[in-house]
Order: sequence, then C-alpha cells, then structure tokens
Amino acid sequence: MSFESREKDLLARIGKLKTKTCTVETPLLFPVINPTTQTIPPSQIKKEFGFEALITNAYILKQHFQKQSVDKGIHKFLDFDGMVMTDSGAYQILVYGDIQATQEEIVQYQEQIGSDVATILDIPTGWKIMEKHARQTVNETLRRAKEFFTCKTRDDILWVGPVQGGRYLDLVAESATRMSKLPFQIHALGSPTEVMERYRFDVLVDMIMAAKMNLPIDRPLHLFGAGHPLMFALAVALGCDLFDSAAYALYAKENRYMTEIGTFRLDELEYFPCTCPKCTRKTPKQVLELPDKERELFLAEHNLYACAAEIRRIKQAIRDGRLWEYVEMRANSHPALYTAVKRVAKYKHFIEKHSPSTKPSGLFFYNHLSLIRPEVIRHQKLLTERYSPSGQAKTLLLIPQTTTKPFHKSYEYKQIRKKLKQEIAKANVCFYAAPFGIIPIELDEVYPLSQHETAMPPDKETIEYIAEQITNYIKRNTSKTVTLIHDPKNWNNTILQTVKKTCKQEQITLKTINIKVSEHKT
Ligand SMILES: [Zn+2]
Repeated sequence: MSFESREKDLLARIGKLKTKTCTVETPLLFPVINPTTQTIPPSQIKKEFGFEALITNAYILKQHFQKQSVDKGIHKFLDFDGMVMTDSGAYQILVYGDIQATQEEIVQYQEQIGSDVATILDIPTGWKIMEKHARQTVNETLRRAKEFFTCKTRDDILWVGPVQGGRYLDLVAESATRMSKLPFQIHALGSPTEVMERYRFDVLVDMIMAAKMNLPIDRPLHLFGAGHPLMFALAVALGCDLFDSAAYALYAKENRYMTEIGTFRLDELEYFPCTCPKCTRKTPKQVLELPDKERELFLAEHNLYACAAEIRRIKQAIRDGRLWEYVEMRANSHPALYTAVKRVAKYKHFIEKHSPSTKPSGLFFYNHLSLIRPEVIRHQKLLTERYSPSGQAKTLLLIPQTTTKPFHKSYEYKQIRKKLKQEIAKANVCFYAAPFGIIPIELDEVYPLSQHETAMPPDKETIEYIAEQITNYIKRNTSKTVTLIHDPKNWNNTILQTVKKTCKQEQITLKTINIKVSEHKT
C-alpha cells in the first residue's frame, strides 16, 4: 500500500502518499493546470507556493500536445518535479456530453506520459439529472472500472477509482461498495462542484459520508473539483485526503477573491484580509486599476496562497487534536456551512468509531453543536454499556459541575462534602456536567472528562441533552432515593423538573437541596 496515515483526528488524517516520483503529505491540494491557458507556470506553483503536486487534464493534453508530452514525459513537459496527477476527461464529458477518445486510449496515454496518479475514464453524474440516468452513470463507470484492469500495462502508477451517483445517496453508497471491491489505490468522489457552487454543503456531507462509509477506510479519498478553502476543514474532517482546485484560476478571471471564510468580489473590498506576499503590497483599489491580465494573475496567486494557508492550518489542527473546534469556527462563516456541520450529527456514531480516543490537548466546547463530538458520544456509550456503580448504594447523589476540574478536588465539592458527609458515605456520587452528562465521581479524572473547557451556562439544547442523560441514568440505576443538588444559576429549572418527573415515574424518593456554595475559598 502506498498510503500510510500518521496522525488522526475525527476521520481526518495526516498521511504519506508514495508515488513513483515522490512522497507527498496529505491532506493535499492539487492546483489544476490547464496547459492551454495557464497563467502561473507549474514550476512556480511548487517553488513559490509550496504545492508538491498538481493535476492536469489528460484529454486536453492529448488533444493539443500529444507528441511533445509523450516524448518528454509529463514532468519535463510541464517543468514540474513534484507529483503529477491526471484527470481523464470526465469533466469534458460532463460539459460536452462526450469526448473524442476511448477509455483504452486515455489509459494508454496516461501510461505513456508517466502520470504519478491517473484516472480511468469515468462518467460523471452531475447535479441536474434524473435518478434513472444517474444509475446509468454509476453502472457505466463500474463497467469501465472493470474493463480498465484488462487494458492497463504499468503497475507503478496509482490509479483512481471514481465513485459516482451525485445527490442520490443510495447510488453513491452502491457505487462505493462495488468500486471498493476493485484493487484501486485511490478513490475519488465525483460531481461535488455543482453541489458546492449551490452552497449545498449539507448535501455534500451526505455524499462524502455515503462514499466514505462504503469504501475501505485506509484508501485515500479525493474530492473532485472541490477547490474552495471555505469547505476544506469540513471535508478533511469527514475523511477526504485529496482535493483539486481549478477555482483559484477561474475565480481570478471573474475578479473573485477567495478566503477561508468565503468569496469576496474585488470591488467590494476596501482592505485585503490577508497577509500573503501579494496582498501586503497592494490595496484592492490598486489591484482593480491593473490591466486585466495582471489583475487576473494577482488574484490567481492570492487565491493559491489562501488555499495553501488553509491546508496548513487544518494540518496543525489535526496535530493539535482540535479539528472539531476548527470546523466549528469555519461553520460560523456561512449559514450553509453551519447547516452542513449540523448534518454531521447523522454520522456521529461512524465518526466516533474511527476517531482517536486520546488527544494531545484538552477540548473546547462552545454550544450544542459540540454534542456531536466523538468524545461526547463515546462517554455516553461507555456509561450506558460498560459502567455500573460499585457497591449497592441506596442513594444517587447528583451534584452540579463545579467551576474547577477535576470536580471532586474543587473547593465547592469540599464544602458539599462537609455539609453532606453522611449522605456521601452511602451514596453513588455523580456530577452532572456539560457536555458529557453524568460523570460518576470515580471517573472524573478520566480523559477527557476533566480535560476540557466549556462555555457556561450551557445553551438550551445542551441542558436538554444533559437532562436526558440524567433521566436515562436514574432509570438504569438501582438506587431507591435520589438527592439532587440544584443549581438554577447554570441549569435554570430544566434539570430539577426533569429529575422530579423521572423520580415520580420510577417511584423513587427525591430530595432536593438548594445548596449555596462559594466558588473559591475567601
Ligand atoms: Zn492574499
């Protein structure tokens, strides 16, 4: 296998992808090079912008530069000593309906020019398409994928097996399942471009997950045509390792300025929100006054810097174990992205299963969006499936979270212990806390139950979630009485009302204490 992952967070990973020319680090963005209209030379893309790889279209190359590219080989022809990926012409099929080449010719051509990563001639599904036609694109792509293995001759190229199906999630899942049985080294998800241009990031989440959950988790996944830094973090978090961007150049033609929080029109900007070498030397007004070609080049270069910087920030977030916090921060850039992050809830159990259980740093929780996090899901699962309180305590004592952690070492808990000495000796003592819910006292130092910072007081949805966790715990517990320490400052009356209702239903005696404790020793 040519791919190994080193560090993980959520479904994201920092990995090494080895090709015949070089080894590159993922998550990786391939700038798209169009050999007929290229504004930034490929050699500069590596030297100046630091991109180790690029992607170009095998069909366009074959149409315009067949002899030169075969004679020189793709790396020399483009003057690029990094990794070269070729796309097959599938995009041209999507735009023009068909192309003037067979799959066998395209496969042979990619072998002749010596691509590092190459793509079979798949049939993209696209967006505006009926389900019946979408199914045909899936079936024909599969047929070609199988046929491909009878016509390839080189084993040193990494071949991409594309997954199609568009917005028909059952078709995406079926396409991924069938494609995963073939020995491709890389998979790719087709057709996300239109979905993203429509800002349907929620549909994109569904499409990525339908593919990801049905592909071998250890094979890298490329998201075709997903070139906007706004959505990189979310896509990486869902397990996309590779991206390509034609957008940096296409947007530049239309005076569009990319940032990690969205796109701006150049004439809307009074200040550049960027410190790249381009933006530090000019003002938007000066750039607007440049001749067309110079302005386009300026914007294309800035757009590339913006993409490269976002990929680096994402990698650092993976290393720090803070990718979820990073995704949440990006979610606040646009309501459509926030909607998409909410959609991740649908896949929280799959993500939890594949996420690392320990992290280099503590966690930050801001609001109910954090309830989707693997750490919260994992605690809920462990508490339900594996935990039972030691001994036969007759009383369940519920204490609100304290201001410092671990809770049982806090000044507030010491005060409570003084006042309720006899009860505590006989009780199953648990804290109720955001965002984890019930934390039995003997577990409160287990990672990450004390290693987090949470914004207080919790929002309505979080309080409701905690109330539900308390209810479930009381129902599972064998205690005959419950003592609740009530803290209306942080938890309003929801916890009190819920516990009252549950105890009544379960015929458990409830004792409530309005305890006034100070946060610190005075
Ligand atoms: Zn810039």
